[in-house]
Amino acid sequence: MTQQVRFDQDLIKRYDVSGPRYTSYPTAVQFHEGFDAVAYEMITAASNAELIPRPLSLYLHLPFCHSLCYYCGCTKKITRHPEHGAVYMDHLLREVEMQGRLFDQDRQVDQLHFGGGTPTFFDDAQLTTLMESLGKHFNLQETGEREFSIELDPRTVDPHRLETLWNLGFNRISLGVQDFDPAVQQAVNRIQSEEETLGLIDHARKLGYESISLDLIYGLPLQTVESFDRTLDTVLGARPDRLAVYNYAHLPQLFRAQRMINEADVPTPATKLELMELTIQRLIDAGYVFIGMDHFALPEDELTLAQQQGKLQRNFQGYSTHRECDLVGLGVSSIGKIGDSYAQNLKTIPTWQAAVGAGELPIWRGVTLGTEDRLRRSIIEAIMCQGELHYADYETRFGIEFEEHFMPEVQSLDKLEQDGLIKIQSDGFMVTPAGRLLLRNIAMLFDEYLNRTDQPQRFSRVI
Ligand code: SF4
Repeated sequence: MTQQVRFDQDLIKRYDVSGPRYTSYPTAVQFHEGFDAVAYEMITAASNAELIPRPLSLYLHLPFCHSLCYYCGCTKKITRHPEHGAVYMDHLLREVEMQGRLFDQDRQVDQLHFGGGTPTFFDDAQLTTLMESLGKHFNLQETGEREFSIELDPRTVDPHRLETLWNLGFNRISLGVQDFDPAVQQAVNRIQSEEETLGLIDHARKLGYESISLDLIYGLPLQTVESFDRTLDTVLGARPDRLAVYNYAHLPQLFRAQRMINEADVPTPATKLELMELTIQRLIDAGYVFIGMDHFALPEDELTLAQQQGKLQRNFQGYSTHRECDLVGLGVSSIGKIGDSYAQNLKTIPTWQAAVGAGELPIWRGVTLGTEDRLRRSIIEAIMCQGELHYADYETRFGIEFEEHFMPEVQSLDKLEQDGLIKIQSDGFMVTPAGRLLLRNIAMLFDEYLNRTDQPQRFSRVI
């Protein structure tokens, strides 16, 4: 993939349509309840029986937070009552045990991620018990090769907790920042000082954490180009290994929390475009590699190396390494990917707890991919992760004649080339520096489900 990016405002405006972010293909819209706990047990058994079973990646969803950030669209519960978390934790331990029984013990867990919500809503004793349970029911990688990460809310973590987490085996952290400007923080109800965030980063480095990732959001209320520029100054001064810079989508009819935001304070689409351009330019000037969508990484980071080696993947956390792993989702609403199937847990805490409490796997829905889905998934992943497509790769692997199989799609590529998103070559195409900001628009061409009228579509826009 070309490392260059060209910001073309007119092109972005023209292609500002709703579309999937392709953290899976097919997208979650295609998941169905016919895929149940029995189906999940069958696919996990089949994954153990493979000639060389894949290593595992675990994702645990810890959905509690002390206070509400008004921009939030996550699955979470706001509470000041630790007992709500304690009941959830009891059930999570039971799910760990149930899921652990499904996977052969020689399948090593190379990657582990605690996401939220706010994982550090739980106290040190609870997180210690959880890690002990994971160690008992799964085969956790013990060498420095492991990638064990946790999302931290700097408002709930002090240097002492950072040490505890390090001792529990975590070697990577990701910190929510969003914006350092006090007025913006006030408008989104997330007050977090520069000192506490920078102090934590500093301490994490001293302890030996191998990767520090920061999340920012552009398009938040009261943000201006000047104010966000100052936030970027501070962030770049800390030089995190990775940055995820998300576009705030103001959808108060969909996310109740966003009704607390004064609509008049939300930047106009024109300002959002300026914020996006500023961010990309500043991060690239500072030496970061634009991985794609909203992700940036230092040149020596594993994400950058995985992209260079063709090993990058899209999953529910965005761009990720360890494509070779099966992903096991634990906790409410989490999504796993085992072989050629996706499985999602029940979406609300009461329903998820009721299933686990009854000793049942809390699977809500999922999908098993057919050959055509697998073919299209690899094409979409190649576009999203590598920014190029070579038809011959799919002809050998899937036994097709590419240009015949995808005749309408290949014909539509001409329009994308005329608009400057791709450069067609004899055996495929490459995404151009301007097209790199519109990867999902290119990938959408190969999405078989997107234009079906029988399917509800609910996707965010590019801007
Ligand atoms: S943004 Fe994060 S910390 Fe804030 S309410 Fe949502 S999940 Fe909780």
